[in-house]
Amino acid sequence: MKFVYAFSEANGLSKDQLGGKGAGLSAMTRLGLPVPPGFTVTTEACRAYHMHRQTPHNLWMEVQDALQALEQQTGKVLGNPERPLLLSVRSGAKFSMPGMMDTILNLGLNDEVVEGLTALTQDARFAFDAYRRLIQMFADVVVGVPRHHFETALEDLKMARGVQEDLSLTAEDLQELVTTYKRLFKRHAGFEFPQSPQFQLQEAILAVFKSWGNRRAATYRKLHHIPDDLGTAANVQAMVFGNLGATSGTGVGFTRNPISGDPQVFGEFLLNAQGEDVVAGIRTPLPLCDLQNHLPEVHDQLMHTAGLLEKHFKDMQDFEFTIEAGRLYMLQTRAGKRSARAAFKIAHDLAQEGLISREEALSRIQLESLEQLMYPQPVTHHGQKALLKGLPASPGAASGVVVFSADEAVEVAKTRPCILVTPETSPEDIHGMASAKGILTARGGMTSHAAVVARGMGCPAVVGAEDLRVDREAGVMQVKGLTIRAGETLTISGSTGEVFLGEIPLQDSQLDPEVFEILSWADGIRKLEVRANADTPQDARRARENGAQGIGLCRTEHMFFAEERIPLVRKMILAASAQEELEALRLLQNMQRRDFEAILLAMDGLPVTIRLIDPPLHEFLPQMSDLLVKVTQLAQQERSEAEETTYQEARELLERVKQLHEVNPMMGLRGARLGITRPSIICMQVHALAEATCNLLAQGKKPRPEIMIPLTGTAQELAYVRHIVEEVLASHDLHLPIGSMIEVPRACLVGGQLADTADFLSFGTNDLTQMTYGYSRDDAARFLGTYVEKGILTFDPFTRLDEDGVGTLISMAVQDARRKKPEIKLGICGEHGGEAHSIGFFHQVGLDYVSCSPFRLLAARLAAAQATLNNHTQEAVLA
Ligand code: PEP
Ligand code: MG
Repeated sequence: MKFVYAFSEANGLSKDQLGGKGAGLSAMTRLGLPVPPGFTVTTEACRAYHMHRQTPHNLWMEVQDALQALEQQTGKVLGNPERPLLLSVRSGAKFSMPGMMDTILNLGLNDEVVEGLTALTQDARFAFDAYRRLIQMFADVVVGVPRHHFETALEDLKMARGVQEDLSLTAEDLQELVTTYKRLFKRHAGFEFPQSPQFQLQEAILAVFKSWGNRRAATYRKLHHIPDDLGTAANVQAMVFGNLGATSGTGVGFTRNPISGDPQVFGEFLLNAQGEDVVAGIRTPLPLCDLQNHLPEVHDQLMHTAGLLEKHFKDMQDFEFTIEAGRLYMLQTRAGKRSARAAFKIAHDLAQEGLISREEALSRIQLESLEQLMYPQPVTHHGQKALLKGLPASPGAASGVVVFSADEAVEVAKTRPCILVTPETSPEDIHGMASAKGILTARGGMTSHAAVVARGMGCPAVVGAEDLRVDREAGVMQVKGLTIRAGETLTISGSTGEVFLGEIPLQDSQLDPEVFEILSWADGIRKLEVRANADTPQDARRARENGAQGIGLCRTEHMFFAEERIPLVRKMILAASAQEELEALRLLQNMQRRDFEAILLAMDGLPVTIRLIDPPLHEFLPQMSDLLVKVTQLAQQERSEAEETTYQEARELLERVKQLHEVNPMMGLRGARLGITRPSIICMQVHALAEATCNLLAQGKKPRPEIMIPLTGTAQELAYVRHIVEEVLASHDLHLPIGSMIEVPRACLVGGQLADTADFLSFGTNDLTQMTYGYSRDDAARFLGTYVEKGILTFDPFTRLDEDGVGTLISMAVQDARRKKPEIKLGICGEHGGEAHSIGFFHQVGLDYVSCSPFRLLAARLAAAQATLNNHTQEAVLA
């Protein structure tokens, strides 16, 4: 097996082998773009190294061959002081993991070569600066000597010379710094800085491989669901230098704006600097458009290159470049990370520009993007001023208490939302960034680590807030003379860059027109109908605005829970005589009729599935324990006349609650069982619905109610309730579709029998999951977290459908029902109806619709379209 490929020969190899960076370099080389030559050591070599704890036996020979070819191509030789070849060694996994793994630059320098480089460039300052950077990076990455030893030495030297900027240090200063660095290296590493460039190269490649296993990379993979066994490639490339003076520089850019998605090249650069200076956020860079004023030809070439990259990759690219003495070099390209807003705009625009199809545009949208778009924004009152303004690096807003370190963020986040405030973030802070609700940094640009990582995580971030001073040691931050301590509250808006003191109320954000256009494309593709779970006219209206094609679940008991209605519901439940019950029912019927009328009107012309009462009656009564306390207290005290009445009422209520008490109410007298044993309630509900329907019909409207019977497990149960419902409907001269929920495993096993008696069936996957696993919906949170943490479950089955278990039951029921009644309408209305993976399953299993909460509707429409597209792809692969 071959492990090493020159960029120019890696044609046909995939990102799996070359990693994203290697594949990008190879593609750019083949496009004829100015890429410094080099070669990629494949991910296969890294995997072999991790598996066997040693490199494959022919690896170093292949590296030597590739190096020789590189030397021939460049006319330079590694370790030769007259014609020194300097190398960069960078990691690059299949999926981009910005800053998580290691890089070594200026490799090939030693005491001799640095002199050669000085003579060649006539620039001792540059040569020794490169050498001191190599020593520091090698110490950090290969040997594990913490960077701060070297950073402190640099700061001490600047202080001694009375300068603030690195650039103000002279050649002699840097020469002295190299001596100090070598001494520090020996002290902490236990051996001299290695003078053999060959040794440096081997160790650097190994360090890149090892960095795949470091803590921050592992955390990042976990967060982004990247498999642990992919490994990283190592890219070895001839160095070009951005720090050779005023006509040199380095920068990063995006072919489109990664925040708004606008189709203009966007980026930042620094003159006379090396790449890490931009990404680390140590110096604040200039916007890319300013390059026009400094190096206009390079600017034009870069704009042209950005266009070529987009045309080739058919996606927004994130690129890195270096300018060495007025010559542009491309160092990297990859699909750029983007905000949720930009994801829609870019996919939309690329499709409109004809670069990709609408289907491709749809399949590129990640559903989390939509949810992020609905992130809230702070609502400030007139005149309320921001404390501070920085760069709006990652959209959304958050309030939380201030913490000053990643570890603190992890701790504090266990109990309260927090905002991580730091001078700048580095990859070591990833665990804290994942825990914090928002990120605020004093330094860095829009492409700094904090900005890129936060955007990827969908975590609001404000970066480069120049008026902010952070003193981590003292646990304070200062803004224009004002001191804020750890534990005080801030609100940040990553969309505007504003930072406010205290907690500001948040409001939903607006969606751009491109989102709705993409959603309309999704509607044209998806096979699944998307309905909403809505119990109020407001929810129904919002659902319709969000594209609901009807209501798949109206939980009628929610109407009973309104504060002013509860006493009436209790009166109905506790009625001592038929007359008393009838009176309460009549009042309730009036209320339900008005509710139904408003909901049917909001959904006029669309189906509205009204579910008959489901929960056990005790849910409408006070808690038995509260009543016991009350009765006991009253029993033990002297009672006034009024208290005596209260006492007697409480005792009666307690008796009734005791009668209704069930050891396991979730498996008790609820759903169809309640309808059968206490038909008066469902009769009232059907009367109310029938009246509402007749009223609307009389007004020329098109109400389309459907009646759904919950929690049936046998065909007889269903037939019995159906009969009651039909009789009531007949008294109003109405025929409405009558169906059943499938919420208990037995119902799945007799899907065909239920289908016989039903016009439609809707899976209630909340209860079905509860009953299939035997996990209580209300209590399982106590152990589900541990189960997921320990790998016993890969996800919470109440959030994402368990396809193996619950899904198998659903498939059986669908097949059986369709065998019996091919035209029967089948849907799902549990929480899973709004979850993307589950929607994929429901599409595959052949349901007609999913129903979910109104705020998840947009995501469900998109997920349903993606499910159709995935199915097409799978069919194409099989064909
Ligand atoms: C279900 O069980 O999935 C369902 C939709 O009903 P509820 O959540 O009201 O029990
Ligand atoms: Mg249910």
